[in-house]
Amino acid sequence: MENYDPQAIEEKWQRVWKDERAFEVPNPDPGELERHSQKTYVLEMLPYPSGDLHMGHVRNYMLGEVVAHFRRRHGFAVMRPMGFDAFGLPAENAAIQEGQNPREVTPRNIAAIRSQMERMGWAIDWNRVLATHEPTYYRWTQWLFLRFFEKGLAYRKEAPVKWCPNDQTVLANEQVVDGRCERCGAEVEARNLEQWFFKITDYADVLLEEMSLLEEWPERVLTMQRNWIGRSQGADVLFRVEGFAEEIEVFTTRPDTLFGATFFVLAPEHPLVPRLVEGTDHETEVLDYVRHTGARSAVEREQKEKDGVFTGRYVLNPVNDERIPIWIADYVLMEYGTGAIMAVPAHDERDYTFAERYGLEIRKVVEPADGSASQQGPFSAHTENERLVNSGEFSGSSAPEGGRAIVERLAAQGLARTAIRYRLRDWLLSRQRYWGAPIPIVYCDECGIVPVPDEELPVLLPEVTEYLPKGRSPLAAAEDWVRTTCPKCGREARRETDTMDTFVDSSWYFLRYADAHNDHGPFDRELVDYWLPVNQYIGGVEHAILHLLYARFFVKVMNDLGMIGFREPFARLFTQGMLYRDGAKMSKSKGNAISPNEYVERHGADAARMYLLFIGPVEQDAEWQDNGFEGIVRFLNRLWRIVLEQGEKPIVEPLPDTPLARQAHRTIAKVTDDIGRRFALNTPIAAVMELVNEIHRHPDDPAARFAAETAVSLVQPYASHIAEELWERLGHERLWEQPWPKADASLLERETVEVVVQVNGRIRDRLHVAPDLPDQELVALARASDRVRSFLDGAEARRTVVVPGKLVNFVT
Ligand SMILES: [Zn+2]
Ligand SMILES: [Zn+2]
Repeated sequence: MENYDPQAIEEKWQRVWKDERAFEVPNPDPGELERHSQKTYVLEMLPYPSGDLHMGHVRNYMLGEVVAHFRRRHGFAVMRPMGFDAFGLPAENAAIQEGQNPREVTPRNIAAIRSQMERMGWAIDWNRVLATHEPTYYRWTQWLFLRFFEKGLAYRKEAPVKWCPNDQTVLANEQVVDGRCERCGAEVEARNLEQWFFKITDYADVLLEEMSLLEEWPERVLTMQRNWIGRSQGADVLFRVEGFAEEIEVFTTRPDTLFGATFFVLAPEHPLVPRLVEGTDHETEVLDYVRHTGARSAVEREQKEKDGVFTGRYVLNPVNDERIPIWIADYVLMEYGTGAIMAVPAHDERDYTFAERYGLEIRKVVEPADGSASQQGPFSAHTENERLVNSGEFSGSSAPEGGRAIVERLAAQGLARTAIRYRLRDWLLSRQRYWGAPIPIVYCDECGIVPVPDEELPVLLPEVTEYLPKGRSPLAAAEDWVRTTCPKCGREARRETDTMDTFVDSSWYFLRYADAHNDHGPFDRELVDYWLPVNQYIGGVEHAILHLLYARFFVKVMNDLGMIGFREPFARLFTQGMLYRDGAKMSKSKGNAISPNEYVERHGADAARMYLLFIGPVEQDAEWQDNGFEGIVRFLNRLWRIVLEQGEKPIVEPLPDTPLARQAHRTIAKVTDDIGRRFALNTPIAAVMELVNEIHRHPDDPAARFAAETAVSLVQPYASHIAEELWERLGHERLWEQPWPKADASLLERETVEVVVQVNGRIRDRLHVAPDLPDQELVALARASDRVRSFLDGAEARRTVVVPGKLVNFVT
């Protein structure tokens, strides 16, 4: 028998698929959209071309691969495109590491990844490929920016921003994780800079409310977004500063604890601070503290022991005119709330720590309603089961009711109002980096900020020789490019030299695929409305509050602008686990990445494709193991042998009702349910392996050939090349287009039991048979088992013990 030769087979079928454009799906003609209702859009997050793919990536793309094949064979027109997130820090830093211009390195990296993907044999519609650094793409990124600008959703302002000293650029809040740069891990610094922002805060409520449309998203991702948006309900309360005309507003979620406010804290950056202490004994100490804070990083501020200084000034508590000392402390941040808080140490952990340290009064104002002792520590849960104490006329009311009453009374005096605040901040999109889409804006001394007219797009990224980050955009050095004329008045003007955050590029790429070659607009609405929302989106959970939030925002704005007909981009989201090796997440930087190249070279793409899904449930992290991979290689060889053996037999029709026929149908049912409903992609492989083992044990079962064909058909989404080759050798054609097999319900209904087969009392095999199978047939089946035969070794059984539905024992 001919040996399994993955190299030859894979090359052959990849050529066929390419020549036949097997996985390209044409757009329906206008007016025909109705007829093409059976469509599905499967999409994995597009990769950064920052180097070769490693096995971790291969695992991710296998998810979409299986779903795409599965749906195609269920009769859907499947769109599964691919692109490259080619602008931005990942690609640029990869180029800088090589000491080369990203303009040259990026296309090379894209070509390398694409050829790896092609070598994996993935069913991708390459006709729709895009790369975000190409002018044909970023022209429309710029065009969209201008639509946002017209609506006041893109604006420029000076603001305190997060600065990565390593990457030499500002970062969006979403790109700062625990005070560190999401890309490089450097501690971020604070700076005041004029920057461009998207007004995502206008959509804070909508982004929350419309999560109700995301029934098929993982709860974990929704929770992360909810927390990031951070809607909290409470009250704005005004505190008068004693001896000053000013009032300071604070936001509190716990107005019920107003009587427990025993001190007041301003952020060191609060604009009122210098005036409060001017000419007083406290001036030197306070201003020193403010200066020291300025030198501290955000991380330090979060993590160090809470400290602060007294200003010598007081505010008056609006509920009872009590004098409350004003402190300056850097645990209060200017960018959240108003930069001022009323401190209630009895019921807030941070205030409590601070009060303990400086000996400030701690006054309990909430306690359990049933009079039981308060919980240990400074907390209360703000529930109906708690009541107010030490709160004047409000004492005795339940905590929520008391809070409402306090706000009502203050509101009548103009000192408070109920308020909703969000943690979410506007999306900072400027980057002081070379490798990004230029922001299409011109600054004119006469006209101010002037958008570049649509017909002048794209604003091409100039070629520069100095592309390294220096703290100001390298584009500023391209003087001929910067100098331009004002589109409005024609006078000399300057171009914006910052580039856009790469997350802008990826906030709409999934729309472009629907109409990838359009050169008169970003896309035709009709086509986008036809293909979108994405039916199955696949990507890492690390994008929960980055790409996944931004893309939702973009789609909502575009829907509000009448550009598209839906509110959410991704109907169903799947977040896959990570691939580990030697106990650490597989990555190039950790030095534990395995390239698919050498493995594919040796054992073929099918083995890698299959192993990476076999390794464990796709939503969980998994550990790469060479011996596991070898196991799959052995399985493919066995599949090859067994199917070719069966291929020499005639097809028996109608299908006889044998144990193997039933197992084949059960396998169909299981694999179909696992992939289609449960998104369990590892268990189908085990089920097919079991089926193949059964064929091996019962090669003469009249349904063996049918079972072999079934195994080939079911394994096709995983090991597409070998499946196609075997299918052809079985005398059929084009398995990738064949209808997915259907389980015969009448065969499924029949229950089976497991019967143990022993030789001289030792278990040698297990059979799955109908519970009412006559003893005679059961013994015949048991005797036919290869394994049993090898143990009998030609000897005749002296005695045969049968326990119906349980056991057959041959005694020699
Ligand atoms: Zn960084
Ligand atoms: Zn002008």
